[in-house]
Amino acid sequence: MAEIVIDGLGKVYADGTRAVDDLALDIQDGEFLVLVGPSGCGKTTALRMIAGLEQISEGTIRIGDRTVNSVPARDRDVAMVFQSYALYPHLNIFENIAFGLRLRKLPKDEIERRVREVAGVLELGEHLHRKPGQLSGGQRQRVAMGRAIVREPRAFLMDEPLSNLDAKLRVQMRAQIARIQRDLGVTTVYVTHDQTEAMTLGDRVAVMKRGVLQQVGPPQELYDHPANLFVAGFVGSPGMNLLGASLEVGGDGRYRVRVGSQALDLPDGLLHRRPALRDHAGGKVVLGIRPEDMEDAEIVGATEGATLTSVADLVEAMGSDVLVHFPVDADPVVTEDTRELARDAGADDAVTALSAAARDTGPEKGIVLV
Ligand code: ATP
Repeated sequence: MAEIVIDGLGKVYADGTRAVDDLALDIQDGEFLVLVGPSGCGKTTALRMIAGLEQISEGTIRIGDRTVNSVPARDRDVAMVFQSYALYPHLNIFENIAFGLRLRKLPKDEIERRVREVAGVLELGEHLHRKPGQLSGGQRQRVAMGRAIVREPRAFLMDEPLSNLDAKLRVQMRAQIARIQRDLGVTTVYVTHDQTEAMTLGDRVAVMKRGVLQQVGPPQELYDHPANLFVAGFVGSPGMNLLGASLEVGGDGRYRVRVGSQALDLPDGLLHRRPALRDHAGGKVVLGIRPEDMEDAEIVGATEGATLTSVADLVEAMGSDVLVHFPVDADPVVTEDTRELARDAGADDAVTALSAAARDTGPEKGIVLV
């Protein structure tokens, strides 16, 4: 096992495309770090540089106590799991899993023991004689995992390993990967474009956009304190409501965010935590409110300065959740799991006050981004 320290990492492809720009990450020994971002943000390139499959243009990568910039992939002692599984079609499952161990010329009985042990953990024991073509997608994915695990590498590098599986299997395998990683405690870097996967798997999540790291932190920290608008919009499903607003100071000295004809008082606590917000008085800001942080203002008894009023224009029942859509000054706002709001929305004259957060605290949980 090993920590992975990335410093000033950059990649410029031969055609001049800059895929990764000045990436710095300090991945702890045994940590599960997820690199996430939209297609083309450079996450695969970054992972391939760690694996040694892509030349580094700038910066350094250290694995354990060794700088590996010029160490070939096979000598880095990391195991990569690809989206495509990359199994050998002509070899049976036993030989696919054993492949790396045979290359290392381990004794036969040790290979036998390690392959059977890993196959047991992954519930592949009865398929060892089959060829990859005779397995389901989920089983193939487990073989790819098995091949990585059996090598007992210092780190796992996984590139969208679940993206070829259907939704149900993906959730099952996600849990299995989480368990295996926790049990083995092997440093893992996992690439995905799926924020749910990132948030559920990662000890920490690193969000990238156009080659640049936007924020890295534990999932809850990204959720509660997104560093910028991109992270705020990327993390969470349904996404955070982002409303164009301006920051005002009233005659009473209170700070308010104005959204069209309505205004919400900023709680003192928020200004205390983010004193720099005061610098933006009179300027444009974005008010971010998570769908679950809005409630029916009447029911929770919210005061005027803590509410936005709107007429619901759409209700989506999604089984366990109900999403209610409101237009607020041309911006759509979505709230979640508020059955009272959903009921109101069914009435012809439904005018519903939304509380931007519970009770009379104003947008306490709302996030003001400048
Ligand atoms: P995806 O989720 O779609 O796989 P990604 O975030 O993993 O995307 P990369 O594959 O790392 O992104 O690509 C980052 C950028 O580098 C993209 O703009 C891509 O077009 C570009 N790129 C990737 N490989 C090459 C290459 N061999 N030559 C030139 N540009 C490349």
